[in-house]
Amino acid sequence: MITSVLPTYNRAPLTFVKGAGSWLEEADGRRFLDLGAGIAVNSLGHAHPALVENLTQQAQNLWHVSNLYQIPAQQALADALVDKTFADTVFFTNSGTEACELAVKMARKHFYDAGQPERVKIITFEGSFHGRSAAGIAAAGSEKMTKGFGPLLPGFVHLKWGDHDALRAAAAESDVAGILVEPVQGEGGIRPLPDACLKGLRDLCDEHGILMMLDEVQCGVGRTGKLFAHEWAGVSPDIMMVAKGIGGGFPLGAVLATEAAANGMTAGTHGSTYGGNPLACAVGNAVMGIVAEDSFLADVNRKAGLFRQKLEGLVAAHPEVFEEVRGTGLMLGLKCKAVNADVVKAGYDAEVLTVPAADNVIRILPALTITEDEISEAVARLDKAASALGA
Ligand code: PLP
Repeated sequence: MITSVLPTYNRAPLTFVKGAGSWLEEADGRRFLDLGAGIAVNSLGHAHPALVENLTQQAQNLWHVSNLYQIPAQQALADALVDKTFADTVFFTNSGTEACELAVKMARKHFYDAGQPERVKIITFEGSFHGRSAAGIAAAGSEKMTKGFGPLLPGFVHLKWGDHDALRAAAAESDVAGILVEPVQGEGGIRPLPDACLKGLRDLCDEHGILMMLDEVQCGVGRTGKLFAHEWAGVSPDIMMVAKGIGGGFPLGAVLATEAAANGMTAGTHGSTYGGNPLACAVGNAVMGIVAEDSFLADVNRKAGLFRQKLEGLVAAHPEVFEEVRGTGLMLGLKCKAVNADVVKAGYDAEVLTVPAADNVIRILPALTITEDEISEAVARLDKAASALGA
């Protein structure tokens, strides 16, 4: 049945009217502990004072001018990202999907301008998610995302997770532009790529002169305990997609790149009306000002260790509901034995929010500002949910 909002979402019967930190208040007054953070978006929780302050100040002055003009807040955010990462340059988008579109265009243009126009193919991996646009679904390639939406954008090679022989063979082809991967698959079920694999991918890209493209839309911006997840492996990409956490709840995404990778993207080759607008960048600057601090990231790591330890205990206590804890930092997952959607639903009754993912996993992506007490409370509520399911 058609509804006034196009019915593409399966929504829970919950209506939140207010948020503060890790808590969401339902219209009926119930308080939910939010372990989903709007799918890894509310990196600093709900209504963080610094974000509210920057946003309202900007809103009182200037909302939007377009990229026809200078935008100081955008320049400041680009400078901060360049300062803290491998990148030499940044393009701002409104979402992760748009970042994917540009990442693909940038890689192809790089080789086109280098006199290798045949290098158009991007290698991607099973279980990946890069957004729902034409390039995003073609990149992921799964039937679930692509069925009925053909003809698909050509030029993607889909490989099985962990099939090193296939990867070596594919990367050696002369029409490959890059390898695109999430350092930690989110939608795919919280599957971290081991550091050694990320290093191996870097070596493979260098060996064949192709671009390493990372999708850190879900795992970036402090979520794994480093500003960006690839830093754990001690390697850096050529192109990186960012979104979600960088805007803390305000639509904002970005493509970060080295000068060499971005060299084809000259004036007039790409654009966005809203991308990097003053409101979004005011919030992005507030997020970066907090998340990029070493002390903040150290705290994320400490809390992540605690959360993980408590979740291991939860899994041990409910072997009929849970199979294992997965993930890294505050990007955690519980592989379920029960149906993951049922576990999420039992969580609603226990007033704790989690997010389902592929591979029968529930995702735990709390605000990075979650407190130790809230972690204990979260596990107590998950325990309640599991007990209700197991009963
Ligand atoms: N890439 C990854 C890894 C994601 O997790 C997502 C969204 O879940 C996207 C891209 C698409 O981002 P957006 O929904 O902001 O367009």
